Amino acid sequence: MRVVKTIDEVRAQVREWRAHGLTVGLVPTMGYLHEGHASLIEASHRDNDRTVVSDFVNPMQFGPTEDLESYPRDLDRDSKIVEEHGGDLIFNPEPAEMYHEGFSSFVDMTVLTQELCGLSRPIHFRGVCTVVSKLFNIVKPDRAYFGKKDAQQLAVIRHMVDDLNMDIEIIGCPIIREADGLAKSSRNTYLNADERQAALVLSRSIALGKDMVKNGEKSCDAIIGEMTKLISAEPLARIDYVKIVDCATMQQITELDRPALCAIAVYIGKTRLIDNFFSEDV
Ligand code: AMP
Repeated sequence: MRVVKTIDEVRAQVREWRAHGLTVGLVPTMGYLHEGHASLIEASHRDNDRTVVSDFVNPMQFGPTEDLESYPRDLDRDSKIVEEHGGDLIFNPEPAEMYHEGFSSFVDMTVLTQELCGLSRPIHFRGVCTVVSKLFNIVKPDRAYFGKKDAQQLAVIRHMVDDLNMDIEIIGCPIIREADGLAKSSRNTYLNADERQAALVLSRSIALGKDMVKNGEKSCDAIIGEMTKLISAEPLARIDYVKIVDCATMQQITELDRPALCAIAVYIGKTRLIDNFFSEDV
């Protein structure tokens, strides 16, 4: 397993693999890896001869008041995790390697980014689409792996790949959770003991919503109402959104009459956490 910092080194390595007829998977991450990331690396290792993990806290997808500076970083720890789970190359560039002076081209999307996280994080998806496009151009993978934890991001990437005719298969992987249900996230490290306990309202409300769908509830208002009630009872929690949207368009719906995504974003203290379920996975 190698760690490289430059685009040239990634390209040279991938060229060598390609010369031997090997297939390549890409797992884009912001580092501080946990079992959620590890599951993507394992999936790529299963499907491809070689796996590249990008480890880059992308400044372009953070708003001015967000946690770019405090975002946790630990390349040594990440290297061990990548190696253990079958990754072959870590690409860990400095921001200047990705965004040279005069950088001025962006990949933007209109429709799917106007809801959910796009409302509270207006520049986020432009940053994500731009960096993922760059990573696709640098690595030129056969397949790329994304978690359903970031369900809107997965939908946005699938749409971008389709719109822009990128010849890459996008694989969505299940949410990995802690034993008590909390979805694994690098941002969970921000939580103190009380907040860690309070954060369980996210997975509990997701479980409640899932149960209602399983029991045949079709009214989105009813599901959202019960989930909201549960989260609001936790004093450390502040809801950003609890919404149900059409999976394909990310537009809100009122009846569960098509494949839907129920997504939530909740502040626990200062930490913004997300969770979700797809109606089709219930
Ligand atoms: P991040 O480093 O948070 O940008 O995440 C990198 C990739 O890992 C994204 O595709 C995420 O959706 C995925 N991911 C993060 N947390 C989880 C999780 N708990 N389960 C599955 N995938 C995850």
